[in-house]
Amino acid sequence: MQEKLTLMIPGPTPVPEKVLKALGKHPIGHRSGEFQALVEKTTSQLKWLHQTTNDVLTITGSGTAAMEAGIINTLSRGDKVICGENGKFGERWTKVAKAYGLNVEVIKSPWGKPLNPESFKQILESDKNKDIRAVIMTHSETSTGVLNNLQAITQHVKEHGNALTIADCVTSLGACNVPMDEWGIDVIASGSQKGYMIPPGLSFLAMSERAWDAQQKSDLPKFYLDLESYRKTAAKNSNPFTPAVNLYFALEEALNMMQEEGLSSIFKRHTRHRDAAQAGMKAIGLQLFAEEGHGSPAITAVAPQNIDAEELRKAVKEKFDILLAGGQDHLKGKVFRIGHLGFVNDRDVLAAVAAIESTLSYLKLNNSVLGSGVAAASKVLNGF
Ligand SMILES: *Cc1c(COP(=O)(O)O)cnc(C)c1O
Repeated sequence: MQEKLTLMIPGPTPVPEKVLKALGKHPIGHRSGEFQALVEKTTSQLKWLHQTTNDVLTITGSGTAAMEAGIINTLSRGDKVICGENGKFGERWTKVAKAYGLNVEVIKSPWGKPLNPESFKQILESDKNKDIRAVIMTHSETSTGVLNNLQAITQHVKEHGNALTIADCVTSLGACNVPMDEWGIDVIASGSQKGYMIPPGLSFLAMSERAWDAQQKSDLPKFYLDLESYRKTAAKNSNPFTPAVNLYFALEEALNMMQEEGLSSIFKRHTRHRDAAQAGMKAIGLQLFAEEGHGSPAITAVAPQNIDAEELRKAVKEKFDILLAGGQDHLKGKVFRIGHLGFVNDRDVLAAVAAIESTLSYLKLNNSVLGSGVAAASKVLNGF
């Protein structure tokens, strides 16, 4: 039943009815006063979401556009940067940095394990000449379901004094606490199809004053993603090019909903859903992929032993119209991922757990007692 499809993937995420309706409005002129008012409002809402007084710019493009913009506007050819890699999205940062000729040193952790803040501390402390210009990392590593310790790493970068912290917060923003100013993060990239509860097409870049200082010196080539032009036009609540006007309607509506719910309630909801999904999977006898205690509030990666994760995922989709995400790269067939990011409620999480255990039973792949996953997840949701 196509119309019943429930997205439980880490983007695109489900879109609320109100937001869908906002999208369906007739477009307005992007140089009109009406649109300027919309930019003014959503910009202040975005600052609220980032917990910052810094600029937050909206770019028409996917999350990767904001990531690339974050690099090419703050760094220069040959700059030394440290990239943290413990999954697919960390690897993407390295690829972007190398594409622009940066001098990249990679700090790795195995997929499923968190980045080790101590490794960053050591490299930063031994950089006596202060050559390192940026530490670049992913907060919530969507490919493995690991939440990295952005706060601790940012603290080490601040102690270094010269480097910027550039963070991919695509699946952490709107799922857990990312207080930009309090932690002192310099650049935060995010995308609309994740915690924002709107379709793909917009990305967001928050820039600290230190990041803008670096922008003045940056010599990497850029045109569409030149933030100078975004900053100038943002001062007039406008945009350098034609933005995805209808997505701004959706953005306003979604941010209204988020403000009604409140940041702490949003974070609590995501944490509960993570805990419920984890408990459910463990009770069914399935192994979690992320190291214990480091699971992302946005996504739970599951590594079922001796079970083809793709076969299970496809059967869940066919039987229940619930779309789970597969494993990426070498994890294909070994891992499936339950997205619980954005417009997700208790029913969605319970339904996903139930669908997984029912499908395992149908495929005769599991001998745990049917219902044990739902029981464990319910306990968490009920606060027991
Ligand atoms: C989804 C995602 C992105 C952005 O991907 P796009 O396809 O460019 O929107 C970046 N980082 C992480 C961690 C993500 O989950």
